[in-house]
Amino acid sequence: MTHTNRTPFFQNYTALPNSFYSKVIPEAMQNSSLLHHNKTLCDELGIELSEHEILEMTSGQNFPQGLEPIAQKYTGHQFGYYNPDLGDGRGVLLGQILDKDGQQWDLHLKGSGRTPYSRRGDGRAVLRSAVREYLIGEALHALGIPTTRCISLCRSSEPVMREQMETRATYIRVAKTHIRFGHFEWLAQQGDIEQQKQLANYVIKTVYPHLLTIPDESTRYAELLKTIMTNTASLIAGWQSVGFCHGVMNTDNMSVAGETFDFGPYAFLDDCKIHYICNHSDTEGRYAYSQQPNIGLWNCQVLGQAFANLVDSCAIESAINKYIETFNQQYLLRMGYKFGFTVPIEEDKHFIADTLILLDKSNLDFHHFFVLLKLFDSDNHSDFESYLPQSKAWNIWLENYRKRIAGQNHESKSNLYKLAVPQVILRNYIAQDIIDAVVQGDTNPLHNWMLWLLEPFGPDKTFKKSSHAHYLKPPTSCQKGLALSCSS
Ligand code: AMP
Ligand code: MG
Repeated sequence: MTHTNRTPFFQNYTALPNSFYSKVIPEAMQNSSLLHHNKTLCDELGIELSEHEILEMTSGQNFPQGLEPIAQKYTGHQFGYYNPDLGDGRGVLLGQILDKDGQQWDLHLKGSGRTPYSRRGDGRAVLRSAVREYLIGEALHALGIPTTRCISLCRSSEPVMREQMETRATYIRVAKTHIRFGHFEWLAQQGDIEQQKQLANYVIKTVYPHLLTIPDESTRYAELLKTIMTNTASLIAGWQSVGFCHGVMNTDNMSVAGETFDFGPYAFLDDCKIHYICNHSDTEGRYAYSQQPNIGLWNCQVLGQAFANLVDSCAIESAINKYIETFNQQYLLRMGYKFGFTVPIEEDKHFIADTLILLDKSNLDFHHFFVLLKLFDSDNHSDFESYLPQSKAWNIWLENYRKRIAGQNHESKSNLYKLAVPQVILRNYIAQDIIDAVVQGDTNPLHNWMLWLLEPFGPDKTFKKSSHAHYLKPPTSCQKGLALSCSS
């Protein structure tokens, strides 16, 4: 039985060759309850479903008309090595909707059981990692970083075996697309140019329709490649500026829409540790905070190679150069604004880098430093200065900073802080507190944080005065250093 159609859902991935996907019947989750329904997002997207319909869809029991669950085939480089055996192993693409602006959104059900690409996995998701993905979508979105988000989250009483027994969960994620760099890598390996073109055409039509006006095919594909790389560069500059560590930047976790995608053991920096590794399984630090911009470039080079049948080598080189140029520009702007530089200039790059090194050496909190920095030339400047250790290096820094901001308009500077310096950060220990509560059956913290995360730059007074005000402060030493692995 399907629901009546208030929201016009459809599934257009099945128009592509059937080797691109497998039809899948999701393993419905027994004894499910809906933990959260993201009504704000559903309203934005024009998804009109009752809570009961959302529960049935998220638990894989019943889908609205127009949706058709499929698992996508892709491959990718994991920790630097090509893996030909990837694909949706624990999730299905349900289909798409168009929002009121004509933007297409994919709906993807995660944790829905085994698919032909599950290999040895059980195809299931656990509550812990489901809650983490659920929260981070809202957090990054509100920080102005492109990301997938989720519309609903369910749990059940079914146990799932990981390092220990855990609770099964399913959730629905929305994204501009679920096409990954790895989709193109897979087709390049197959060597079927026609199919590569079909995928490129699909991405252009559904994600970058403005490119359809380019009449010449190879120019169109070259622009597609350049656009993907530009968006990826801008995304990673955004991550760096908010101290976000993705954790598993494998090419199968990179979206061609330039959205933050497929979260693993992500983390926001607490102490400004430049080489921080958030993923306990990443023993070499391949995806350390400091490595993310280079790995983004490495991933783009892999994508460039996968486009080699569609565009010439100059086009690949020019797209790569665009990545570097965009990253540098965006990083300078985003970081410069955090320092209150109304017009960041090239030389600020050195000042920014030196500051991060000094913060690292001094074990200072990445976010709190900038929150206090806005007091620098206010009556409360001593609150900022007393946060810094007494040292020659910091005295020199204060001197240099004073010189750099001399003559800047105070009001435009404070306006910048409001846009660039978040106060509410989904620190790992906070995410863990929320998970612990949800596991115990208390969804209040989840519901509260889903709202609080939407206002990171100016938490309202009730938040500041509430018993949760301590969440705005840097974590205590016990709250830092939570070790998270790839297990999800
Ligand atoms: P990830 O590390 O989440 O990006 O996953 C890498 C690959 O492993 C993807 O193809 C996933 O679909 C697959 N995978 C991860 N966990 C599971 C699981 N529990 N069951 C089946 N496949 C999984
Ligand atoms: Mg993945």
